[in-house]
Amino acid sequence: MTTRKLFMAGLMTETNTFSPIITTLADFEEQGLYRGDGTRHAPDALHLLAMSHWRKLAKADGWDIAEGLAAFAQPAGATDSDCYGFLRGALLDDLRQAGEVDVVLLNLHGAMVAEGIDDCEGDLLQAIRQITGPDVAIGALLDLHAHLTPAMVRSADLLVSYKHYPHDDIADRADELFRLASEVVDRKIAPVPAVADCRLIGLWPTTGPAMASIVDSMTDLEKRPGMLSVSLVHGFPWGDVKHAGSRTLVYADGDTGKAEAAALEIAEQFHTAREAVASRYRSIEEALDAAADIAHGPIVLADMADNAGGGAPSDATFLLQAMFARGTTDAVSGCYFDPQSVERCFAVGVGASARIELGGKHGAASGPSLSIEGRVMALKSDHWQTGLGGSRIPLGRSALVETRGILIAICSVRAQVFAPDAFTGLGVDVEAMHVIAVKSTQHFHSRFAPIAREIIYVAAPGAISPQYDLLSFAKRDRDVWPISRDAPPPRLLEMKAT
Ligand SMILES: [Zn+2]
Repeated sequence: MTTRKLFMAGLMTETNTFSPIITTLADFEEQGLYRGDGTRHAPDALHLLAMSHWRKLAKADGWDIAEGLAAFAQPAGATDSDCYGFLRGALLDDLRQAGEVDVVLLNLHGAMVAEGIDDCEGDLLQAIRQITGPDVAIGALLDLHAHLTPAMVRSADLLVSYKHYPHDDIADRADELFRLASEVVDRKIAPVPAVADCRLIGLWPTTGPAMASIVDSMTDLEKRPGMLSVSLVHGFPWGDVKHAGSRTLVYADGDTGKAEAAALEIAEQFHTAREAVASRYRSIEEALDAAADIAHGPIVLADMADNAGGGAPSDATFLLQAMFARGTTDAVSGCYFDPQSVERCFAVGVGASARIELGGKHGAASGPSLSIEGRVMALKSDHWQTGLGGSRIPLGRSALVETRGILIAICSVRAQVFAPDAFTGLGVDVEAMHVIAVKSTQHFHSRFAPIAREIIYVAAPGAISPQYDLLSFAKRDRDVWPISRDAPPPRLLEMKAT
């Protein structure tokens, strides 16, 4: 067997182009920025899961491995141009340093925007292709909340996106990409792509039956002869870039017609199901009414609009304010990104009373700061929670404060809630709570569903409100459902043009 050489690297963030918070190098450093030793030092960090898998698979096949940059920043606004220039340069230098390679695998997000560059992944893949030449197999793993662009499709041999939301299939997709890339380099397959525009905007959890059946159709399609990979790239609604949109991406083995037919088939199935798969959510008042009517908890309220994972500040107080006004008790709420309040709690200590100005520190989307007098129940200098695929998500210095029957988890590293240990790690008995209010859109689902009696999605005001028609898009197509009720049906996209 020929010995192959793999180069792997990662650069991930999801850019909310409406967010005023610029993403800087410090934001990448906060999450763990590595140059070749990421899989050794932090194999369980979320942005190293795929690369750790590739290392295992390549090692098992006796390949040589060169590892480069691994970087991730919590979603926010556009990445600072110097920061992007530095990270891009570092990754390309690492590739050059690796010498001759057979396969390049990249762990990307797909919705990264830097100041002046709307398609960072396309820019990066083009630069990589220029270095490697045409004979190296280039594959990239994408989050399904990506913007699929011609530059990306043209420059890579293979792009594979997650199929599940919550993204609990990262390892499976990483395995799939590795297997296909190794077949490309062995000249066993010749992937040809086809892309169809689904003409839809939104967020689509795959945990409900209608989306689950589309995922099943994709998996069934992949079993047909000559079919290599089927992705449904949902798109990221809060990215105002030309190529934003929900798209199918299919690779067939040397057969463009087959790829196009499959890309349209899934796009049409998705489009036809648009009413059935549309997210259901309630207003704050409707959600609290529903929670009050349910005798036994825990009832999980998902504060979708303040999800750090979509670039929100994670310190909005709208839902909490309403819970106070209602006299909601036996509740926990978090995680508020508010380092100032955390330090105030550390200053007084566990058991003492602290006066804090909670949240509301990032403009109108955060709502007002709430003046709270509460008892400090717990402090932790290095708090963390379990993330997707068993990864470890840092929360930093954190505090738990109790006031008026509500426990409030406050953290110093901005992150959405993925798992109950965001609260249990601070001593909260989550199963005893009637209401668990999480700042998260959907990734909480995998680990909260087993303990929740009911899950209610709440459309509070906030940075990523699901009212897409109110977003002031300048670059992306507005001719998509539900912004336009008469949006045209899906169509194939030409990916050769820019
Ligand atoms: Zn995502």
